[in-house]
Amino acid sequence: MRSSPNNPRPKSKKISVERPSKAAQSKPLATKPNRPQSLKRSRSKETSGQLKLRAATIVAILKETYPEAKCSLDARNPFELLIATILSAQCTDKRVNMVTPALFKDFPTPREMASADPSKIEELIRSTGFYKNKAKNILRCSQEIIKKHNGTVPASMEELSSLAGVGRKTANVVLGNAFGIPGMVVDTHVTRISNLLGLAKGDDAVKLEHQLREVIVEKDWIIFSHLLIDHGRHICIARRPQCGSCALLKLCPRLGL
Ligand code: SF4
Repeated sequence: MRSSPNNPRPKSKKISVERPSKAAQSKPLATKPNRPQSLKRSRSKETSGQLKLRAATIVAILKETYPEAKCSLDARNPFELLIATILSAQCTDKRVNMVTPALFKDFPTPREMASADPSKIEELIRSTGFYKNKAKNILRCSQEIIKKHNGTVPASMEELSSLAGVGRKTANVVLGNAFGIPGMVVDTHVTRISNLLGLAKGDDAVKLEHQLREVIVEKDWIIFSHLLIDHGRHICIARRPQCGSCALLKLCPRLGL
């Protein structure tokens, strides 16, 4: 699925469709559940092995709860996913999916995007917010892909994160979802829920990424963020987590609540 300026656009195919399972559509919390005190007390004594086992159990439960979990940005190749992820900063995936069809219709490849009129890009992405900065980054990023990578989106963290507007989070999204290379994406849902679950601590994205890589087995790195994002959207909602309906309640110390 590598992008190439010479190849015709593949037939329209969404990388993903966000669709919560029935199990995810639980009833709202009627009463505040008891905090699992024993778990909270014993957490300080939790060994690395026990933490990894608890993490694996959490991932297994989330996989059952959200069998459809996947990247919710629509993209047909690494270039589209890269641009869509840049656009998703401070914006919902749903909104990004509304603007990208027109953007990629006019500028389907890095080469066409690289020579676009900046004001045309701005106009097409305006509703995603911060559109002037995003347009500047999209333009520069596309120009760098042409200049340094011969028009092909690179498939390494080092090369991706050196592109304009691309940080570790965006690079991990592209590595994992476009190239199948394990990457741990840390966004606001992952940060918040990992802390509540006691799987990682703090709000520094790079430190959290490294902590989670230690706790979660590598084969689950890509799916892990999608699972937590679905859980954050449907049950562990910011400011009003539905703990009484949560399949993870017995495994969650609910740190910080
Ligand atoms: S909803 Fe409650 S029990 Fe479930 S993960 Fe969030 S804080 Fe933990």
